[in-house]
Amino acid sequence: MPHRPTRTIAYAVATLLLLVAALPVSGAGPLSGKIVCLDPGHGGMDPGAYNAANDLRESDINLDEAYALSALLKGAGATVVMTRTGNQAKTESDRAAFCNQAGATILVSVHTNSVADPNPDGALTYYYKTGDVPLAQALHEALYSTLAPTAPAPTDFIYFGARRFRAGVLRRSTMPGSLAEPVFLSSPGEAALLLTPIYTAPGSGIFSPGCPAFNCRRGQIAQALYRGVLAYFAASAN
Ligand SMILES: [Zn+2]
Repeated sequence: MPHRPTRTIAYAVATLLLLVAALPVSGAGPLSGKIVCLDPGHGGMDPGAYNAANDLRESDINLDEAYALSALLKGAGATVVMTRTGNQAKTESDRAAFCNQAGATILVSVHTNSVADPNPDGALTYYYKTGDVPLAQALHEALYSTLAPTAPAPTDFIYFGARRFRAGVLRRSTMPGSLAEPVFLSSPGEAALLLTPIYTAPGSGIFSPGCPAFNCRRGQIAQALYRGVLAYFAASAN
């Protein structure tokens, strides 16, 4: 039999098509096709809020929670990009430009609140653009409903709501975004809970002994933000 190159090519093409079909569909799930830009607030020389009693930096808490949120979002099929993956210093412009360049569907900036008064605790989210409002509201509802009952003082946990704030990352970004302030690090009760990291190290993906399956305060925050993102997309699909 003479060699038949056309048939050989046909077999090769068929094999290739089968291989492509067998590849896992990137991002199957309710967030399939969504690109979420996560922005862990502060970093570098800027620790954000600082709890001296426990040597606890907001920048570290935000990064740990962002990694957990990233894992949850990826599990639901989202593509996730992060404005910082370690303790890098990033300007608000850097962060917004990064999310814009990634073509992100939404932006979630993860912070932790703090004031001079040690008493207040509660959930707050910010929006800037009109298009940010539904996301800020969805995140706030999820944060409050999840974090109030589990707060050190549940009846004192304040419903701040979604408020307007001229945050650089929200102002310079082009997609719907929200900056979340889930709880107050300045509350001694919250600070004690926030001491426990979700992961053994940023980006390790290994749960710390104190936080099995997101079962610690930071883990509750990550799960609440995740529920908020799911609720936002569920509502915006209608
Ligand atoms: Zn902050």
